[in-house]
Amino acid sequence: MPNKKSGHIEEFALISWIQDKAGQGDHLSLGIGDDCAIQPQQSHQDLLTSTDLLIEGIHFKREWSSMFDLGRKSAAVNISDIAAMGGTPQSLFLGIGRPKTMTDGEVEDFISGVIAEAGSHGAVLAGGDSCAAPEGLMISVTVQGAISAGDAICRQGASYGDAVYVSGPLGDSALALSLLQNGQQPDDYLAQRFHTPAPQVALGQKLSSRHLATAMLDISDGLLGDLGHILEASKVGADLMLTNLPLSDSFQRALNKDPELIDLALAGGEDYGLVFTSPLKDLSDQIDAEFTVTKVGVISPTPGLRIFQDNGDLYSCKRRGFDHFS
Ligand code: ADP
Ligand code: MG
Repeated sequence: MPNKKSGHIEEFALISWIQDKAGQGDHLSLGIGDDCAIQPQQSHQDLLTSTDLLIEGIHFKREWSSMFDLGRKSAAVNISDIAAMGGTPQSLFLGIGRPKTMTDGEVEDFISGVIAEAGSHGAVLAGGDSCAAPEGLMISVTVQGAISAGDAICRQGASYGDAVYVSGPLGDSALALSLLQNGQQPDDYLAQRFHTPAPQVALGQKLSSRHLATAMLDISDGLLGDLGHILEASKVGADLMLTNLPLSDSFQRALNKDPELIDLALAGGEDYGLVFTSPLKDLSDQIDAEFTVTKVGVISPTPGLRIFQDNGDLYSCKRRGFDHFS
């Protein structure tokens, strides 16, 4: 990076570096460099907007991951919200509060990660704000996306008789986090699921454009908590089958040694797969084989969420989804 003064790159030199690196999406008539980005409006489309805040020590530890991966994850968790509506991510806006302990190289790696993750979903970094922070890195990411008017899949909409589906394995990210917290190294697969989660943009788009899902959410706080939001908004209940939860080989191996880990698959956060409901009992002929979706339960008219074991007994999860204020 150019133009260093007093040890760190100057704000405007950083912005011009970001501007070069980010490029500009076709959907924008003006990107980084002015007071606002300008996006001409398309008719028959809805604009989706979502923001996430990531605070060092609460959402991440800088020593656990590379700055590039942290940038990717910051973008990915935000893009996942667009995926969860079935939309197409377009623009990211990145606020950085940068502590003095963060080197220019680390800032560059972080922003490069954001730009790379955005680019892999066809989105661009279209603006942001950069300032110094007293201690600890603060990140705010806002994403905007587009969807055909009226097609967004919301939390309400699930109804009695719908099946409950999840995309991808559950609990991997929470297992990796608990290993890291205990000073252990997760295997490469689990580490990748934790550090660089993959937002399910293509699946979300398929579900929304074909009107296959009645309600949808991305699994950021754990299946029970996130499905709980769907149930509350839709004023229904659900019955889940414990043995139907999709688990990775790495997770299954750990589970064989410690059966209580199943609670991580039920209530561990940050998997960033999708949980959705659909009136269709079988989706395999509706969506391509590249998407693995698993039916984990059914919507019931009885309020509440019940988890059934193979023998018909109810299972009680000891873990709760993540709540920042409790
Ligand atoms: P303002 O004074 O209006 O806040 P800035 O000087 O902060 O403008 O920003 C100038 C341009 O650089 C704007 O287009 C802004 O969106 C962009 N920008 C600033 N910081 C970032 C960042 N961290 N990531 C992406 N774009 C940024
Ligand atoms: Mg500014």
